[in-house]
Order: sequence, then structure tokens, then C-alpha cells
Amino acid sequence: MNYVKGVNQDQPWYEVNEAGTVLGGGTSLAVNTGEWRIMIPAWHEKNCIQCLLCFPVCADSSIPVKDEKRGEFDFTHCKGCGVCYKVCPTFRKTDAEKAITFEKEDK
Ligand code: SF4
Ligand code: SF4
Repeated sequence: MNYVKGVNQDQPWYEVNEAGTVLGGGTSLAVNTGEWRIMIPAWHEKNCIQCLLCFPVCADSSIPVKDEKRGEFDFTHCKGCGVCYKVCPTFRKTDAEKAITFEKEDK
């Protein structure tokens, strides 16, 4: 899926898509927003009670749910905002007891 005309240094301005042009639906999947991340969540399944409170708060739909259970983060799209970490009921527990921990990402 590529809705952007090949943008490169040799391309004249009049061949670039006009700013704000909506070229199609579902394009967010094609953007690797995970590259923007500086903080990263980690899911610890053994501490997860599957309450699914984290799933609806993720603005990037980066917490997949199947058969009423969450799965591993989609790190291609997770921006590392930390909202899932804050909403998790294990937030006030020790790191060893948390279902989600959150730390600076090594790149
Ligand atoms: S850190 Fe933010 S973007 Fe990443 S999974 Fe959690 S809520 Fe979604
Ligand atoms: S909010 Fe925490 S305990 Fe609930 S499903 Fe998400 S990771 Fe698991």
C-alpha cells in the first residue's frame, strides 16, 4: 500500500500530492509509527488478569485481542505513550507484580 507518490530530491513540487489530500482509507496501517517511540511498554502475561482495560485506551490499536484475551503489543504501531501502562490495575504494584512495565527504549 503506497498512497504517496515517490517523494525524493529529484521530484518537482508539482508532482507531490497536495497537502491534506485524503487518498484512501485504512492508510494508518501503512505508517510505522513505532519508529517515533522513545519509551516502550512490556507486557508480563503471568501478571495479567485479562481485564482488557488497556485495549480500548490505545489510540494506535496496538493491543490485539483475540478470544476475549489480549496478546502481545504491536510494536510496529505502538508510539509508547504509556496510557495502557497507567490504566492497568497493576500500575501501583511493584515492577515484579505489574502486568505492564514501561521504560526507555534502547535504539
Ligand atoms: S504505549 Fe500507548 S501506543 Fe503503545 S500500546 Fe500502550 S497505549 Fe498503545
Ligand atoms: S490492563 Fe493490565 S491486567 Fe488488564 S488486560 Fe491490560 S495488561 Fe492485562
